[in-house]
Amino acid sequence: MDDCLFCRIGRGEIPSNKLYEDDELLAFYDIAPQAPVHFLVIPKRHIASCGEITEENSALVAKAFELISRLTKELGIGSFRVVSNCGEDAGQSVPHLHFHVLAGRSMEWPPG
Ligand code: AMP
Repeated sequence: MDDCLFCRIGRGEIPSNKLYEDDELLAFYDIAPQAPVHFLVIPKRHIASCGEITEENSALVAKAFELISRLTKELGIGSFRVVSNCGEDAGQSVPHLHFHVLAGRSMEWPPG
């Protein structure tokens, strides 16, 4: 989508602090980190949220989780949290599917 922030980051139109990139996925550090390690994994193609995952696009989600597993190993992170907020009430501020990966501090449950 033309004006979607994460589509634009995915196309390189807006700079990001990249951790990984391929044709389908991008991992980059969050601009407002909520933990000592906080990066985002996004599909480059526009999917609005977890609520829009279908049989047609779910292979990308599997690849995103494979990437999360690989990157956390490469970064030496043994304990981490993966979060995807879906909808405004859940805290989603960017309407493009993304997985937060947070690590480096102890975390509470349930989340607020
Ligand atoms: P959410 O609120 O779950 O939709 O997550 C969106 C995340 O994107 C927030 O943690 C923001 O800090 C982060 N964010 C917004 N703009 C940028 C940007 N230009 N570069 C990196 N992270 C961003």
